[in-house]
Amino acid sequence: NVAVVLYTSDLRLHDHPPLRAALSSCDRVVPLFVRDRAVDAAGFAAPNRLAFLADCLADLDAGLRERGGRLVLRSGDVVAEVGALVRECDADEVHMAAGVSGYAQAREERLRAALEAEGVRLYVHEAVVTVAAPGAVLPAGSDHFAVFTPYFRRWSELPPRPVAAAPRSVRVPEGIGSDPLPRRADVTGVSPGLARGGEREARDLLRRWLRAGLSRYADAHDDLAGDATSRLSPHLHFGTLSPTEAVHRARTAATGHAADPGAEAFVRQLCWRDFHHQVLAARPETAVRDYRDRRDRWRTGAAAEEETEAWKEGRTGYPVVDAAMRQLRHEGWMHNRGRLLTASFLTKTLYVDWRIGARYFLDLLVDGDLANNQLNWQWAAGTGTDTRPNRVLNPVRQGLRYDPAGRFVHRWVPELAGLDAPKVHEPWRLPAPDRARYAYPDPIVELADGLDRFRRGRDTG
Ligand code: FAD
Repeated sequence: NVAVVLYTSDLRLHDHPPLRAALSSCDRVVPLFVRDRAVDAAGFAAPNRLAFLADCLADLDAGLRERGGRLVLRSGDVVAEVGALVRECDADEVHMAAGVSGYAQAREERLRAALEAEGVRLYVHEAVVTVAAPGAVLPAGSDHFAVFTPYFRRWSELPPRPVAAAPRSVRVPEGIGSDPLPRRADVTGVSPGLARGGEREARDLLRRWLRAGLSRYADAHDDLAGDATSRLSPHLHFGTLSPTEAVHRARTAATGHAADPGAEAFVRQLCWRDFHHQVLAARPETAVRDYRDRRDRWRTGAAAEEETEAWKEGRTGYPVVDAAMRQLRHEGWMHNRGRLLTASFLTKTLYVDWRIGARYFLDLLVDGDLANNQLNWQWAAGTGTDTRPNRVLNPVRQGLRYDPAGRFVHRWVPELAGLDAPKVHEPWRLPAPDRARYAYPDPIVELADGLDRFRRGRDTG
């Protein structure tokens, strides 16, 4: 008998419960990826993610071929395509990973109904995309944890799911047609410094990270220039790396030092990922609506639009903000500290709606996903789950603290390359003749005015 494995955000062979389950109940399996028209139409087909996706699909196909199988690619409406394939290969069951967004939840419902009508069973596997299923731990009387720390405590107590090995062989039925796989080289508008995708790349990166990065992580993860984070986020987004395996391997890499601070800090960040996924699963509308503290009075109009453009283009006149925004454009990725301070700047200093910033990030981020992007934006904007929603990050102090030698600014804002820290974080303070040597804009807004606007907005909004 035959099973279809529908791949979505889980483009791997290692630790893949749907593939494993399909192989244990059926002798032939069709690994399927559908280039979903609805996902493209909703604006998620941004060039950086499409290019990375092309790498991931090529690598998944190569991994399957090494095992005697191959990847089948179809394009169109996902429910119609799965239905057609099920009929073509006379499949008995379909396996897939559970998703968390409103769209993913509706897709599962539609698929279940369509397949049941044909007498085919849909198996939706939890804890593939995340370490814990969204409902695995719940506070009394609610369908999700709204605060991270108690969630983390309960999440840490869950018994770990065993990590499954990659299958040795995959037999695909004969004669199943596939669209040609997309090629990275065919995608236009890709950031020049975009990372490479694919499971092999993910596993190499994890190996290097555990060997050379993890032990420094607790101390160095906020150092903008040190770039001492794992950069695994695109792989976690596309599922070329299992988050369960990442947790397991970080913990075992650190055995011998029972409470290794690097591993603890890294696992805690992976828990943040699960935290946002469980919030979105319970409140899918927060992808577009304020989680709480609804604020309708964001600035609009020509001045706000011009300042937003300056923010997007990295010419706000605040060097660390501009450096981070230019990193985003160049790499399709930004350091977490950069994301925090640029998001705070847009929403709390310029007082522009977080949705505008979140949309821009989604257009560029290779790891851009609804759970992490929208809910981190809400966190930074003070409309989300931050227990201190009124904190405003001062970009000068952030620069002095997280880029003390100015190396991050020098890397991304070459106009200021000749200016040492700490002056590089406040070039407007230079005496006029020195200031004139740097072709770099003056601040588009005074920080005191921004703070004042934020406080007034809060009082009346
Ligand atoms: P590491 O520091 O090595 O962390 C390991 C992993 O933990 C990451 O790969 C990521 O999967 C997870 N993680 C770390 N921090 C967070 C966090 N705050 N929330 C959720 N998961 C986290 N992350 C995304 O994956 N996609 C996004 O679209 C996204 N948008 C963001 C937008 C804003 C405004 C902010 C403040 C943060 C956003 N993040 C997003 C979270 C975080 O910035 C990135 O996950 C991180 O910078 C990725 O780099 P890394 O893999 O080197 O992280």
